[in-house]
Amino acid sequence: MPRKNNRKITEPKLEPCVGCGAQVLKKQGPTHEFIGASPGCWELFGQLLAKEYEEYNYPPVHRLTVDTYAVQHPGSPSKKSIQSVAIHLIGLHLTLDLNYEAHHATQILGQAAETFTEYHWLEPPPSLGSLTILDVQGAANIKEHTDRVHIWAHTVWQAWQPHHEQIRAWKELVR
Ligand SMILES: [Zn+2]
Repeated sequence: MPRKNNRKITEPKLEPCVGCGAQVLKKQGPTHEFIGASPGCWELFGQLLAKEYEEYNYPPVHRLTVDTYAVQHPGSPSKKSIQSVAIHLIGLHLTLDLNYEAHHATQILGQAAETFTEYHWLEPPPSLGSLTILDVQGAANIKEHTDRVHIWAHTVWQAWQPHHEQIRAWKELVR
């Protein structure tokens, strides 16, 4: 019997993202200076942002997309990562707990970044939620995209629950 042709189909290699744990393409590529994402995940985030700009004309949910992605990829302690995680967690608090409109939240976060620099590192919880950018990408329209981002954001915000009290306290310090 002739041997079956077992030429391998080259399947793309996957690896868990160092931040969110999503199975993403293992590849070389650019990453962010202090947002702790693997290249494959960082690329997906770039595509998601491009979709928000190009297809959805920079929708209000963009605020939530950025805040959620940033705190699901906290990176390692540094001056910039400490500030970033703190600011984006305050962003989730403003949007999800206090129902701030995106433009208002952005304004407050600008003040938070400028006027207060005494943030400290918040040890990320062991799990940063069961949903990742993989659950958000591929939405068929803006409504579906917005719904998916909201669900993702809620799970990530919930994962940071051990630090909610600190985040609320920081929010109160913003003037
Ligand atoms: Zn990731």
